Amino acid sequence: MSDKIWLSSPHMGGNELKYIHEAFEENWVAPLGPNVNGFERDLENFLGRSVKVAALSAGTAALHLALIECGVGYGDEVICQSMTFSASANPIAYQGAVPVFIDSEQETWNMCPKSLREGIEARIKMGTKPKAIIVVHLYGMPAKMDELVAIANEFGIPIIEDAAEALGSKYSNIACGTFGRFGILSFNGNKIITTSGGGALVCHTQEDKEKAVFLSTQARDNAAHYQHSHIGYNYRMSNICAGIGRGQMEVLADRVASRRAMAAFYKDLFENIDGVEVLTEPNEKFYSNHWLSAITIDHEKTGVTREQLRLALQEDNIESRPLWKPMHLQPIFESSPYYGHRVAEDLFERGLCLPSGSNLAGNEKEFIKSKILKVFSK
Ligand SMILES: *Cc1c(COP(=O)(O)O)cnc(C)c1O
Repeated sequence: MSDKIWLSSPHMGGNELKYIHEAFEENWVAPLGPNVNGFERDLENFLGRSVKVAALSAGTAALHLALIECGVGYGDEVICQSMTFSASANPIAYQGAVPVFIDSEQETWNMCPKSLREGIEARIKMGTKPKAIIVVHLYGMPAKMDELVAIANEFGIPIIEDAAEALGSKYSNIACGTFGRFGILSFNGNKIITTSGGGALVCHTQEDKEKAVFLSTQARDNAAHYQHSHIGYNYRMSNICAGIGRGQMEVLADRVASRRAMAAFYKDLFENIDGVEVLTEPNEKFYSNHWLSAITIDHEKTGVTREQLRLALQEDNIESRPLWKPMHLQPIFESSPYYGHRVAEDLFERGLCLPSGSNLAGNEKEFIKSKILKVFSK
């Protein structure tokens, strides 16, 4: 087999080009137009709960605007899950604010409620009450929202839900991305659906959405000339990208089903390998889109390290990737406060993401399976 097997690659549905053609025919080649409105409507209908969605140029841009709308400014502190992609934390720095990182718990690998409470209480004691809490649903697995929301409410701190990896995931039958004051989505090329690059801010009021649209289109005041009383951004989604998004929304349910089938495939594959755990929903409250299937490997039980498995797969052109390196271990965030109990460190050392694309063929799956079994049979 010569073609590379990717962790997660774009998977078009078929109608994307139809929407792009419409945009060209009507000359809506701009960061506004019928596809932008249509894509926002599709997302609002999918997420439910009467949310209002603003389509933006990236998930990172959505996080930045969420922080601005939560009033985060220079010198403020913002709590953020440590084990995540750096884009969850970078916008805190864009605002000149300080990230305070929180450990994960074992079951979902997301923010640990116990460590969150410790972190908030410690910061309040120091006189720096955090302005927002960024919770992430890693690899599509919902975080423990009941516990996290209860703590956030107790202290009156808004949650920003980083659902970049979790479109289609649910907790207590409620869509991920709709729990927080704001939710953010990403449509980057490797996500469960893509617009080639793009994101969205999920809001609960029309005002919050309008403010996001205003800020994302250079913050022009209502005047014939260009008048500005706010710093603006160029963060709106283009009508071409939104056309891809509309086509992708037509197949989102299929994509979720395929990713979940990949997780079941790995669950089955590792069932009889003692010392390998597949990231799995703790109970029926959790419904993961299983954007990426991920495992942890116990070296003592298996005689295999995550790096040995990764390199063995690489030999056969199969892509796999260590879990996100926690932010408090990153050189750029070394000096930021951190509250935790070494769970994220341990997961990072032992964890690996495996090819999870919705477009993997049967023979590719068999190839992955035989290779993995070979590594663990040595
Ligand atoms: C992809 C991702 C982002 C950023 O989204 P972009 O659209 O690439 O800017 C943020 N957070 C997490 C957890 C992600 O996986």
